[in-house]
Amino acid sequence: MKTELLEENWTTLAQADMDKTVIFVGIAPVEEHGRHLPLGVDVYETERWMRDAAALLAEREPTLTCGILPVIPLGFANMGRFPGNVHVSRKLIYQVVYETISAVAGWGVKNILVISGHADPLHTIAVEQACDTLNRERGMTALAPMGAIFSAAEKGIKGEPHEELAHMEAQYPNDFHAGWVETSCMLDIRPELVGDCYRDRPDISLQGRELMDGGRVAAAIAGEGHIGFPRAASESLGRLLNEDSAEKICTAAERFAARQGYECYQHHPLYEIPALRLRLD
Ligand SMILES: [Zn+2]
Repeated sequence: MKTELLEENWTTLAQADMDKTVIFVGIAPVEEHGRHLPLGVDVYETERWMRDAAALLAEREPTLTCGILPVIPLGFANMGRFPGNVHVSRKLIYQVVYETISAVAGWGVKNILVISGHADPLHTIAVEQACDTLNRERGMTALAPMGAIFSAAEKGIKGEPHEELAHMEAQYPNDFHAGWVETSCMLDIRPELVGDCYRDRPDISLQGRELMDGGRVAAAIAGEGHIGFPRAASESLGRLLNEDSAEKICTAAERFAARQGYECYQHHPLYEIPALRLRLD
């Protein structure tokens, strides 16, 4: 069973078998996404992926109850001074995730999945740390798989290999923000919110390490706001990308609920670098 928790009353949860209940919690920022995409891209992506993953999971594992909480519209999203950005501290992200999943764990839930469409490693790692704290206190209860899913190849996470996506990734790499990846996702999720001008946006290409240099990023994206290749987007690519995300999230949730083979989803590859973790003292 899949259910939107805002539409239920508390007795639904009181009757649920908590060992067989999976709750999805979303957290993603309101943030500029270029001239062609709305501020809510990460929120829309997170909503879509959680819903589709929960539906897939309920289908694959009919004995599970899958509940979805609304997306918390917050993120560590440091994209400069564009109007529309709501960039908050990692400390707040950590705290709001920790307190939210603690509350859900207080219902007796043993399987909490924290999902975010926002791929910034600093955001992701703070979310993972909130799960780690809860897991230390209560035993394994929460999993934030997106850091691993966004780095699937590095983490040895396999999906359906798709030729068209592999070809695009080779031809248009480092498509970090509001480029062909997110524009395609939005053409599939909410096409009416994608400005036709995506076809005319300039290519803005930055390599991995250049992204760490705030001044460099600000200069490269000035007047635009995207990093990547929006013009290469299409609705059919978006469908493949969204299906791939939902499938990977579903598999992570399925393994976590079975407590089998979920370990590779626990951390972003950069989690191992102490300087990138939030100091919690
Ligand atoms: Zn985004």
